[in-house]
Amino acid sequence: MQVQRVRAAVAPALAVAIGALLALAGSMLSSAHAAAKPIVANDARVAGDRERTRFIADLSKKVDVRVFALSNPYRVIVDAPDVSFQMPDGIGKEQRGLVTAYRYGLFAPGKARIVIDVAGPFLIDKAFVLESRDDQPARLVVDLVPTDEKTFLAKLKEARPPEEEGGAAQAIPQTAARPADAKPVVVLDPGHGGVDPGTSSAAGITEKEVVLTFARTLKAKLEATGHYEVYLTRDDDTFLPLRERVEFAQKKGASLFLSIHADYFPNKIDKATGATVYTLSEDASDEEARALAAKENFSDALAGVELPNDSDEVLANILIDLAQRETQNRSVVFARSIVGELASKGAGVHTKKLRSAGFRVLKAPDIPSVLLELGFLSNPDDEKRLTSEAWRDRTAEAVAESIEAYFAKRVARNPF
Ligand SMILES: [Zn+2]
Repeated sequence: MQVQRVRAAVAPALAVAIGALLALAGSMLSSAHAAAKPIVANDARVAGDRERTRFIADLSKKVDVRVFALSNPYRVIVDAPDVSFQMPDGIGKEQRGLVTAYRYGLFAPGKARIVIDVAGPFLIDKAFVLESRDDQPARLVVDLVPTDEKTFLAKLKEARPPEEEGGAAQAIPQTAARPADAKPVVVLDPGHGGVDPGTSSAAGITEKEVVLTFARTLKAKLEATGHYEVYLTRDDDTFLPLRERVEFAQKKGASLFLSIHADYFPNKIDKATGATVYTLSEDASDEEARALAAKENFSDALAGVELPNDSDEVLANILIDLAQRETQNRSVVFARSIVGELASKGAGVHTKKLRSAGFRVLKAPDIPSVLLELGFLSNPDDEKRLTSEAWRDRTAEAVAESIEAYFAKRVARNPF
């Protein structure tokens, strides 16, 4: 029973990994693929008021959609196969009627998703796609009406999508064993992706782009040393749930896991700047760390992944035995190494203090895991740095050296 559960948990990650490989192969053959024209969504808007709110998206062609509701927070999810989003910049932020925001992107390879945030309990009164006609584009229309909490929850149960079932089994798979003489595996985890853009600057630079570019640069530097096998959890603009990022690292037999993010500080007066390094802990080191972990952990919810009620359970299983304590110690050693290198290379650190909180993506019990916030997209100076090639190169170099230093220390301490 237990074994099957583990398998069930691993299978989607494998599917995603294979999908990512196919996507990679696909991008290499992009000219061949160009023949099969994807359906394009090129605009969206919200109309109506709190009594009836209508979400509309313009499509190049009619597409089959699956529309359903999720609770906690209130959301409408629209899933469709292969839609390419070419929406105007900056849409999705205005509030109207019951809709407070929406976002869109790849949810998995070949699977597009729109997530609509809703202010309170609601019913999906209508959802349909109109054929294009004359000069009108095809249209996705979703009508929402308000209801009470009880009715909302009753409908939710009724309409529960079958493939979201069973995702709650949270058995943590073991990290794959590797031959003793194999190169250590380093897994780099660019945060967010696809339907979840992460945070963004005033000019619309998104966290998901910044961290992917950085991760690719760092991967190239690490591979150039010849010392490691390096993998990215995602190498394109596809969403990946937090749990699958951890499972990816475990399946690869990772010796080190680095999740890469960029932060946003809402208070304009405080010009927060520079990188911050985080490790996992049950109790947050400080309020800022706690708030950040909550924000990063919200990634799955933003993308419309239904969360099992496990946010406490996940952490309850951590930090209990000696092996995990050893993992924690190593995570801290690695985190110190990054902070030291970044500071000495002048890459800019927000604080030299190590911070910690309950980041779900750092929960692998046997892989030292660290989360690096590269800087603050809310700060225009940081934004300039984060998008500059020179800064990226220097900072990736510093992080690569901190990884070299981490492994050198390990070998010195534990030569076999
Ligand atoms: Zn993030």
